[in-house]
Amino acid sequence: MTAAASLSDHYQAGRFGISFEIFPPKTAEGDEALWQAVASLATYKPAFISCTYGAGGSTRQRTLEMCEQITRRTGVDSTAHFTCLGGTVPELQEWLGWARQHGVKNIMALRGDPPAGQTDFQHTPGGLKYANELVELIKRVEPGFGIGVAGYPEKHAQAPSLAVDIDNLKRKVDAGADAVFTQLFYVNDHFFRFRDLCVRAGIRVPIVPGIMPILNFAQIQRITSMCGTELPSELSAQMSGAQDDKEAQLQIGIQHAIAQCRALKEGGAPGIHFYVLNRSQACEEILSSLDMQFA
Ligand SMILES: Cc1cc2nc3c(=O)[nH]c(=O)nc-3n(C[C@H](O)[C@H](O)[C@H](O)COP(=O)(O)OP(=O)(O)OC[C@H]3O[C@@H](n4cnc5c(N)ncnc54)[C@H](O)[C@@H]3O)c2cc1C
Repeated sequence: MTAAASLSDHYQAGRFGISFEIFPPKTAEGDEALWQAVASLATYKPAFISCTYGAGGSTRQRTLEMCEQITRRTGVDSTAHFTCLGGTVPELQEWLGWARQHGVKNIMALRGDPPAGQTDFQHTPGGLKYANELVELIKRVEPGFGIGVAGYPEKHAQAPSLAVDIDNLKRKVDAGADAVFTQLFYVNDHFFRFRDLCVRAGIRVPIVPGIMPILNFAQIQRITSMCGTELPSELSAQMSGAQDDKEAQLQIGIQHAIAQCRALKEGGAPGIHFYVLNRSQACEEILSSLDMQFA
């Protein structure tokens, strides 16, 4: 069980904070597999396990129920993702109160992505436009929550430049975010450059790299092209060579993630946030091979 630490405590010098991100499953089989995965992942004593908030605000209640179950079943702190999308300010405030009642420890405060089929971001009338406004709202109405925000080593798709995006990230940190969790990436140099630019911009909170082990190459090609993430050509070539062999793809993905995580830790990253896609095998193999001392 994690101690009653604040979010940033998990990334203090001498510690290495591990966290896992899951999403609400859509089927009964998915539900069963997820809770098995969560039980296994909880043994690594993560700083928290987070649950996403559906695009367009589509999992309002479900995210909170998932968070409550995470803590009830494993004793691990939960982090609820929450977005500006899908609610007026009073509705967002009401949800934050429910989150407290469900025992949620931290909020991942996001602008949100539009629902499937809609490309433009359209903010809710009477709601909020940017994640920094959501951080401000949380600090005002529920200041007890730890707050994470998103950062983009290869820049957010809609930002005109990395420099402008980092200025906007600083707004979120200045509003009270405790830590930054990055978008997935497969080339560590992007992370290290981003971290150095953030420090130069005066961002002093932990910047935690987000790692998504490749379980299935076709799926990762879709995700990386949507968010503008570079897939190194060597990795793509290896994956293409294992086109019809799912197990070989999984192992290539695991080896790449192991190399990434080792280099990130050696390069001074304060921890790792794993996008686990509701499966535990890849993360377990990665964490076992890293031989780390967990919080
Ligand atoms: C760790 C992580 C978890 C995520 N979880 C979810 C989830 O559960 N559900 C979901 O729907 N999405 C999730 N996302 C995706 C996220 O919602 C999208 O990437 C979204 O497009 C941007 O969210 P944000 O919080 O970074 O937005 P913001 O920080 O608001 O930035 C959005 C864009 O606006 C610009 N900007 C920011 N502030 C300002 C400002 N004040 N004035 C002008 N421009 C500004 C930024 O440069 C950027 O281009 C997650 C992303 C990450 C990295």
